[in-house]
Amino acid sequence: MPGWSRTVSPRCSRSCSRHAAARATPRASGRSRWPRSARGSSRRRPSRSPSSRSRTTSPRASRRSRAPRGSCVADASPGAAAPTVVVGVDLGGTKTAAATVAADGTLGPVLAVPTPAAGGPDAVLDAVAGVVREVVAALPGAARLRALGVGAAGVVDVGRGVIVSATDTLPGWPGTDVAGGLRRRLADLAEVPDLPVFVENDVDAHAAGEVWRGAAAGARSALLVAVGTGVGGAVVLDGHPLRGAHHVAGELGHVPVPGAELLRCPCGRTGHLEAIGAGPAVHRRYLALGGDATSPDTRDVVARADTGDELAASVVRDAARAVGRAVAGVVTVLDPEVVVVGGGMAGAGDLWWSALEEALRAEVVDVLADLPLRPAALGNVAAVVGAARGAWNLLDDRTTDGGAR
Ligand SMILES: [Zn+2]
Repeated sequence: MPGWSRTVSPRCSRSCSRHAAARATPRASGRSRWPRSARGSSRRRPSRSPSSRSRTTSPRASRRSRAPRGSCVADASPGAAAPTVVVGVDLGGTKTAAATVAADGTLGPVLAVPTPAAGGPDAVLDAVAGVVREVVAALPGAARLRALGVGAAGVVDVGRGVIVSATDTLPGWPGTDVAGGLRRRLADLAEVPDLPVFVENDVDAHAAGEVWRGAAAGARSALLVAVGTGVGGAVVLDGHPLRGAHHVAGELGHVPVPGAELLRCPCGRTGHLEAIGAGPAVHRRYLALGGDATSPDTRDVVARADTGDELAASVVRDAARAVGRAVAGVVTVLDPEVVVVGGGMAGAGDLWWSALEEALRAEVVDVLADLPLRPAALGNVAAVVGAARGAWNLLDDRTTDGGAR
């Protein structure tokens, strides 16, 4: 089961194989495989799942057909000698990945660097600018940067490209002017002085990627759910991401759900979905209910569930049911065309999926009985693709507005 996963080690260095980066493509669908890593919200970023770090991007040829072959990621601008590119960035708490993305969604080689979170916002933005430079420098010719899209950890004011709030994963991150900081750092690489920089929450970027080129491709509306360390969500309605009046639309993790009444959520309250449905909650609850105290993590609990540990299985089922019930509530209000689920827990296998789906189907009214429920398809590149889509949209808007933006 593909999650919103990452397959590049945050520990990799210049000597590692990331510099022989493969052309990353979406991963195949399936529900039985624990993902190599997990990811998700960073407003409530779901986790890197256990033991899920490999050292290079991991292209899967099986879905490569979604990206048309032969498309060039470096587009020649009218009147410009050098090719120009749009770069998408997935800026996470531990790793930052970037690649060129063509107007048709074709993805170039993905480069990734560790995110120097402890160094503060300036260090983080330096790292982002650095990896963007590497991506562009790897292209033939003296390519220029036409636009930049960033899916960033934290709650983002998309209109300004500024972080509104964030968890402790990125110290000092709230208030950071991501768009302005990157525009300054990359001014010499930009095709135009006022480099278009689009910034949105990384789960929203994932959603945009899945809607553009992934599991929700072609849908006008979708609910994207990421279940990992946290539970994140994003909503696309009528082709547009739903931001909300306070930039937090889609925060599924903090929806009250039955069964979590006595469980403390990372936000400090009790009763929220994340307190029972997120990956760490599964492990925590297994131990609290008398499970084997030597169990090291959620991955282990899921493995035990698969091999007959009834307590482990019940905890996993409870977690999935909670997600299913929360999703049922959201889809009843919003009526999306499709629900896409990713993140580390989405790789927990059929036990998790069947419990989620049963709970969802049991709760929704008849007219929603056949609502498609799909695993996320783009894996570790979804946010890169989706962020770039936002950048392309900025360019379209500038064209439409006669350069007003
Ligand atoms: Zn909460």
